[in-house]
Amino acid sequence: MRVEVVAVGTELLLGQIVDTNSSWIGEQLAMAGLDSFYQTKVGDNPERIRAVISQALDRSDAVICCGGLGPTQDDLTREVIADLLGVELVMDDAIAERIRNMFASRGREMPENNLRQAMVPVGCSPIPQQPGTAPGLVCPVGDPVTGKVIYAVPGVPYEMKEMVNGTILGDLIARSGEPAVIRSRVLRTWGTSESALAEILADRIDELDAIGNPTLAFLASGVEGLKVRITAKAVDEEGTAAIIAAEEKVLEPLIGHLVFAYDDDNMESVVVDLLRSRGLTLAVAESLSGGYITGRLAAVADSAEVLLGGVVAGQPAIAERLLGVADGAAVNEETAVAMADGVREAMGADIGIATVGVGGPGDLDGVPAGTSCLAVSAAGSGAVATTVRLPGDRERIRQFSAITLLDLLRRVLLDG
Ligand code: ATP
Ligand code: MG
Repeated sequence: MRVEVVAVGTELLLGQIVDTNSSWIGEQLAMAGLDSFYQTKVGDNPERIRAVISQALDRSDAVICCGGLGPTQDDLTREVIADLLGVELVMDDAIAERIRNMFASRGREMPENNLRQAMVPVGCSPIPQQPGTAPGLVCPVGDPVTGKVIYAVPGVPYEMKEMVNGTILGDLIARSGEPAVIRSRVLRTWGTSESALAEILADRIDELDAIGNPTLAFLASGVEGLKVRITAKAVDEEGTAAIIAAEEKVLEPLIGHLVFAYDDDNMESVVVDLLRSRGLTLAVAESLSGGYITGRLAAVADSAEVLLGGVVAGQPAIAERLLGVADGAAVNEETAVAMADGVREAMGADIGIATVGVGGPGDLDGVPAGTSCLAVSAAGSGAVATTVRLPGDRERIRQFSAITLLDLLRRVLLDG
């Protein structure tokens, strides 16, 4: 089963939007074991959209088009598909009603334009997931079961994802004729390099290459960690769950100590959960990371229960005045510890964490760029501090210092 992705939108060609939809869909296709050899971007022009979809249909079995399903004149995907299939567009009353209701429930008048979105090419069916106004479409080409198929989904990423996960992947797997369930589990790791992880896993990957199921893949995801994904295929859910569980057992002694979260959990959600389960509160002091740590923690739902607050000390004098740090200018572990102690006491928290560092470009008073001193201070049991040298530019150093500090906190919490 060969599947192609066509991303529609002039803004993609002009560099105003990065085409993250295609890469996300590509990842899902690979995970589902579906071949995908081409991805195309095309502007909002009907002839060119048509040519690109035709070409994709010639060389693949299925085409996923994203974008151009909206209500405006430059949203052309629906019309082009009808034209290509040689069918009329007809109004789908249920969709029209739903769009009218969406506007009514927000107390807004519906512009007539929006009814364009209720037009469905004859022979095509709307995708049941309808998170936005634009409905997605499943458009069989030729025989509805054995023929090829075009899917159209909106460009808005969360709408697209809901439809791909909810309808398209299942439909593609069904069409591919393999009676298989495909599931994967992501182990998120932090604390080693991509090449080191590759080395640790090399033998196991070779073994699995010979067996074919499950498969292991890893993906360096910057501040989100290095993801190790186990993908299993079986006839049913229980089968995939058993394969994944067995593989996790094999990996545990190799990388278990590096794993901080699974699937969609991230470092901060894990840290917030740990704090909550232990009934502890947290205060944050940061300089180089400029609020990034506090911001990431605050993004976790209900984190205010455990996150008392944060202090961003842009200048040493602020750390001195607000946190009682004697020499806020020195980038070393003593400063980090003094900041962590200071913010914990100032906010009356159980735990204080802090980071100071050199973001660069260039050294600061002989301390090289990328140096980051991290500290965790717990009431009653003293402080833990460490210094790391992080690679990359200023932004990367800021992000990595934040996650490395949260990982240190996670380890302190796990060690009790
Ligand atoms: P809408 O009903 O919102 O207009 P649409 O199907 O017409 O949906 P577009 O107008 O093409 O979709 O895109 C809507 C928004 O979705 C864009 O402004 C952009 O933010 C995002 N988007 C579109 N295509 C992509 C893509 N390939 N990758 C990432 N984001 C995209
Ligand atoms: Mg649009």
